[in-house]
Amino acid sequence: MPHPVIDSPRKISLADFDPDDTGDMTKDEVQNEWLPQFKQSLGQLQELLYGAQQHSVVVVLQGMDTSGKDGTIRHVMSGVNPTGCYVWSFKVPTEEERIHDFLWRVHQRTPGRGTIAIFNRSHYEDVLVARVHNLVTREVWKQRYDQINDFERLLAQNNTLLLKFFLHISKDEQEERLLDREKDIEKSWKLAVGDWKEREYWDEYVKAYEDALSRCGTREAPWHIVPANKKWYRNYVVGQTILEQLEPLAKDWRKSLRQRGEQALAELRTFHEQHQQETKLPPARSKAGKNG
Ligand code: AMP
Ligand code: MG
Repeated sequence: MPHPVIDSPRKISLADFDPDDTGDMTKDEVQNEWLPQFKQSLGQLQELLYGAQQHSVVVVLQGMDTSGKDGTIRHVMSGVNPTGCYVWSFKVPTEEERIHDFLWRVHQRTPGRGTIAIFNRSHYEDVLVARVHNLVTREVWKQRYDQINDFERLLAQNNTLLLKFFLHISKDEQEERLLDREKDIEKSWKLAVGDWKEREYWDEYVKAYEDALSRCGTREAPWHIVPANKKWYRNYVVGQTILEQLEPLAKDWRKSLRQRGEQALAELRTFHEQHQQETKLPPARSKAGKNG
């Protein structure tokens, strides 16, 4: 993958990453060649993940308003069986969530083994919006980076794959997308005055994102910086990254599926043998003598 991956803490400046980047791909290639193949591969991998029950997957989507979190979910997950997958959107904390530690509500939504969870926003909001709008004191949000790293390490050590994507758009692209939504009556429901107000805090959000990326990009839970001005390239980077992270595990999943299959078949054989003996034993109950 040619996109930037942060897998150890280091100073990140978003200005170093071009949101217009499209690697060496073209839209035509991605949509006509890559996408159909991708859907099929992801579907197959998910089936193995689901059956093997060894790992769970959390896909974290973060980004400024209009960066395409919903669109990414729609496109990238379209080949996935809904039975083994769910989306959870983290909103302004409820009263009950607010009186707990900030990770309480997140831990409740982490997937069980075999399942993929997509987080539309996440615990990172607690070092983003919470920091930008002073919802908590500086001392409180400063401690949260380490707390997040500890939490993510706990998940990773318990066989959870964490795939964290920052959808990187430019401020100009955001303006265009906000204006587009105003022009389309069927998209306007997504808009709120708050979106334009949040835009005034762009630079503060950039700083907050830079810290989250710098401090919480770890080996266990790397951050992927996704050039997201072009929607088709954004989908490609996210989708391809998910594939590349799951593929190396597929061999183990197949092995485990075969073991589980053998075990199930052995149990069935024993069942059938016992059943046959039982039906032979009491002659009164056996119809075999009469009919066959
Ligand atoms: P949306 O994604 O448009 O449905 O909006 C969800 C809103 O919830 C966004 O404005 C987020 O900033 C806000 N939100 C999510 N998590 C938190 C949090 N932990 N604290 C405060 N606001 C949050
Ligand atoms: Mg919104």
